[in-house]
Amino acid sequence: MKVTILGSGTSTGIPVIGCKCDVCKSTDPRNKRLRTSACLQTERASILIDCSTDFRQQALTHEITRVDAIFITHTHSDHVAGLDDLRIYNYLHGGAIKILGAPHILEEIRRRFDYCFNPAQIGGGVPELDLIPIEEPFDFMGLHMTPLHVMHGEIPILGFRFDNFTYVTDASFIPPETLEKMKGTRVLILNALRYMPHSTHYSLSEALKISQGVGAERTYFTHIAHQMEHEAADRTLPPNARLAYDGLTIELSD
Ligand SMILES: [Zn+2]
Ligand SMILES: [Zn+2]
Ligand SMILES: [Zn+2]
Repeated sequence: MKVTILGSGTSTGIPVIGCKCDVCKSTDPRNKRLRTSACLQTERASILIDCSTDFRQQALTHEITRVDAIFITHTHSDHVAGLDDLRIYNYLHGGAIKILGAPHILEEIRRRFDYCFNPAQIGGGVPELDLIPIEEPFDFMGLHMTPLHVMHGEIPILGFRFDNFTYVTDASFIPPETLEKMKGTRVLILNALRYMPHSTHYSLSEALKISQGVGAERTYFTHIAHQMEHEAADRTLPPNARLAYDGLTIELSD
């Protein structure tokens, strides 16, 4: 399994429009962060986790020419705004693109992207999406997927475990029963917004504490705001935890 971090930034992206802070002005490419998403590829499957505002740019950069399915964590714009660009894959490999998520998340997608499900006319460049609710763990294209129920402020959202790879973003609370399901994972991607606490996102120290509880071999933090400079934040972390950055690839053998 190969995982590519397509975007490691919070909802604004970094640099933030109009901001003159040191991180936004930094020339270190690891401080340039597109909106959060990841691509997971195996011999059989090419899967996205979320479809960010920057999806088109991410797909071009990483030459993503096939998408079998997209697992959606939640419907904040930074995680779904790229869905319209999926229509290209309808042409590239025919048929609808599978969109998987919690039932309440899919309802929201149906509402927000109404024009995809109730097109005013045939044709005209509308993506064809097949909404598939996730209720329980299941096997998908050779991977065992476990949905991870976490809280994003007051909103229940999903993280995903695929075999020994676990991806949780936009969490501010992970219930003990979900933490149990994360244990034994070899690689963990977890959100860490900044040093200061935030009402709907883990801070770096909160995320680090969660990651130590999970005990993955390697943890990478994502969904990062401009208050964290890559190199400086990395220096505060133990050897098995690092900030993710756009373009980071992680290989997991079986
Ligand atoms: Zn977000
Ligand atoms: Zn800034
Ligand atoms: Zn969010």
